[in-house]
Amino acid sequence: MIIDDQHYDVIIVGTGAGGGTLLHKLAPTGKKILILERGDFMPLEEQNRSNVDIFKKERYHAPEQWYDINGEPFSPQTNYAVGGNTKIYGAALLRLREPDFEAVNHQEGVSPEWCVKYAEFEPYYTEAEQLYMVHGEVSKDPTEPAHSRDYPYPAVAHEPMVQEVVDAIAQQGLHPAAIPLTLTRQDDDPTGDSEVFGIQPALQAANVTLKTKAQVICLHTNPSGRIVKAVEACIGNESYLFSGDLVVLACGAINSAALLLRSANEKHPHGLANSSDQVGRNLMKLQMTAVVQLSAPNSGKFLRSVYVNDFYWGDGDFPYPMGHIQNTGGLLQDIIFAESPPMLSVFSKFMPGFGIQQLATRSLGWWAMTEVLPDPNNRVRVEGEKLYLDYNPNNVEAHDRLVYRWIEVLKAIEKAAPSSIFQRSGMHPRGESPLQVVANQCGTCRFGTDPATSVLDLNCRTHDLDNLYVVDSSFFPSSGSVGPALTVMANALRVGDHLVKRLGAN
Ligand SMILES: Cc1cc2nc3c(=O)[nH]c(=O)nc-3n(C[C@H](O)[C@H](O)[C@H](O)COP(=O)(O)OP(=O)(O)OC[C@H]3O[C@@H](n4cnc5c(N)ncnc54)[C@H](O)[C@@H]3O)c2cc1C
Repeated sequence: MIIDDQHYDVIIVGTGAGGGTLLHKLAPTGKKILILERGDFMPLEEQNRSNVDIFKKERYHAPEQWYDINGEPFSPQTNYAVGGNTKIYGAALLRLREPDFEAVNHQEGVSPEWCVKYAEFEPYYTEAEQLYMVHGEVSKDPTEPAHSRDYPYPAVAHEPMVQEVVDAIAQQGLHPAAIPLTLTRQDDDPTGDSEVFGIQPALQAANVTLKTKAQVICLHTNPSGRIVKAVEACIGNESYLFSGDLVVLACGAINSAALLLRSANEKHPHGLANSSDQVGRNLMKLQMTAVVQLSAPNSGKFLRSVYVNDFYWGDGDFPYPMGHIQNTGGLLQDIIFAESPPMLSVFSKFMPGFGIQQLATRSLGWWAMTEVLPDPNNRVRVEGEKLYLDYNPNNVEAHDRLVYRWIEVLKAIEKAAPSSIFQRSGMHPRGESPLQVVANQCGTCRFGTDPATSVLDLNCRTHDLDNLYVVDSSFFPSSGSVGPALTVMANALRVGDHLVKRLGAN
């Protein structure tokens, strides 16, 4: 064991949406910060979507296996690299809707209230949108919450064929809106990630140290168990011990929970910060279904650009929330399709005999996304070295209804719109995402005021340990129906303000 002779003011574990954004906030304090990342920098060509071998399966899956409830191994779709999953994400940065912060009745139960409301998150959403150079417009979408400031850049223009579809959707009385996207340059670079906006600028400061290929394997407490005293990481073939005043986990909801569970000791026999037995529980991941349509020719290389939230809170036939619709990017551009073989099989069933190029340029894809409810039995579990996800999706009828409602819309457009848009295929196959698609994981260490039912307090400090924080997607008490990344970033900035004060810095 090598004991690092430095002592840090803050140790952050993980460089994704949570860790990278928090580092951006803390670096200017001048405090001595160590950030540990189990992955390495991603080579540039891997970030260039147009060069991605889209049919290569599982390119960004973690080099390890997790296990389902029956003990079947699978390869999780999660990316270990500087920037974490933001290196491969779709870059759609949406705010949760204001009622998502309240208790909401769903068909299968109640989505719980957040103790911190939209009004408190709003300035941090704005700060995150400015930091990540989000291109968008405060839309006519009726579910859009109030913004105190416009997006820093205008929305991305739709591909001409997508614009025709957007017009046709509006003619159905719906409210298609521009997807807010983070782009590092105005026109070309598809995503802005936490390496570009968080890590790289912070590394210019002398007070920040990044160690890559440094997998944290255990947190050690002092004898009373009240504070984390050392962080143990595996770098190369050596074990290192690092000490810091404050320790912040940002490993992603599944890995942060697993790390806490694996750090069990005499004072914390069921895992660190787990006196409530809530660590790892309430795992949520959005239900996602791809709907594919045969279309007029398109470039196959365009960003996703339109979403529809008219069914977010339900519709006439179904008075419960249903969820969010957004288009996929062009198949030659959209990395999700590189990651989701089930979706690809939908395309090939849909268009038998088509080559890759034809598949990519003659189709239009849509994601239907629906909230799942927190269920204590949906959980991360560790047994020895093995990580298990016990998981059964819920709120399934709401999701099915969303999918079929959207198919009805598409069929109506086919009938009404000029034949140039769709090829009147009459079929709209679907592909649901399997367990291994953990892209939108959240909820395993939820925040709240009651230490008996939550793991973190409202500043995302663990109730049980005075110097231990979690700032990734673990803190969500409910998932909403939009992607979690912007809320993770906004929350990291919010917690960052608290930490700046706690550190006595400016
Ligand atoms: C293909 C794909 C597309 C997506 N598209 C969107 C989208 O369009 N919009 C949206 O809102 N969300 C999207 N998401 C989800 C989004 O990327 C995540 O919500 C977000 O990145 C979560 O941030 P995080 O900080 O919780 O975790 P991550 O970004 O996953 O970061 C965790 C980091 O911790 C590191 N780490 C893990 N364990 C350890 C350890 N033991 N020691 C050291 N380091 C460790 C990891 O390597 C990683 O760098 C997408 C995700 C994927 C995979």
